[in-house]
Amino acid sequence: MPETTIWICPVCGQSLTEFDKTLKCPKNHSFDKARSGYVHLLPVRQKHARLPGDNPGMVRARRDFLNRNYYQPLRTALCRTAELHQPGVLLDAGCGEGYYTGEISRTLGTGASCYGIDISKTAADFAARQDKQTRYAVGSVFHLPVAGASCDMLTSVFAPFCGTEFLRVLKPEGIFVMVIPAARHLWELKQAVYDRPYENQVRDYALEHFRFLEKINCNQKIFLETNQDIQNLFAMTPYAYRTSAHERERLQALQNLEVRTEFEILIYQKEA
Ligand SMILES: [Zn+2]
Repeated sequence: MPETTIWICPVCGQSLTEFDKTLKCPKNHSFDKARSGYVHLLPVRQKHARLPGDNPGMVRARRDFLNRNYYQPLRTALCRTAELHQPGVLLDAGCGEGYYTGEISRTLGTGASCYGIDISKTAADFAARQDKQTRYAVGSVFHLPVAGASCDMLTSVFAPFCGTEFLRVLKPEGIFVMVIPAARHLWELKQAVYDRPYENQVRDYALEHFRFLEKINCNQKIFLETNQDIQNLFAMTPYAYRTSAHERERLQALQNLEVRTEFEILIYQKEA
């Protein structure tokens, strides 16, 4: 049976209906699902690189790290937040390989329609392979292929923020959940690698046209058991790009490490 979705056609902007293996708009623009189940909705003009988004190596490092469940407490906290608000339609904008999306989707069950979008094809493919309950697409957070006022909840977990797009796709009074690292997130890892580690900058919580409802701190200490875990975690961070050969050597020498993880879950409501 064809099903309506919140996805819109990247060519003409009309709603996409999902069939068994394709999605189609009323003008018959058609988008095939990949074998794993995701659909590619990124127009060529928004595709600035051959493989946009995180490269496959980074996506794999992140998947391998997340599958070790060191970040399970954050995932559980996000599921609880979703459960509390009971969204009928949820979109995870910048969903990566669906570590959080999939579990939120399983928590909400069949009563909710869950969607995940990421600009990386590798990430969307991993996500769709392990989670058949969520609809995944390749697309940009800055030009969401999503109908206006279609989402009850939007989540953004360490993903790029685009206020105008998030406001557009949320229903009036829809809930926006953002996860950001706190000042001392991964402090011991930075200390082990850098001569002069610096704290993450924590920004002002105010967002235009959103009412700030609540902040949930999610802090814990994790014990990284192998060098591979440490390397994978490091590869997920923005500092991986600006690390010298000398600092990489230090990273490679670490056999295990206790490190603090400090997340802030910020919850907002779109103004009516
Ligand atoms: Zn169309």
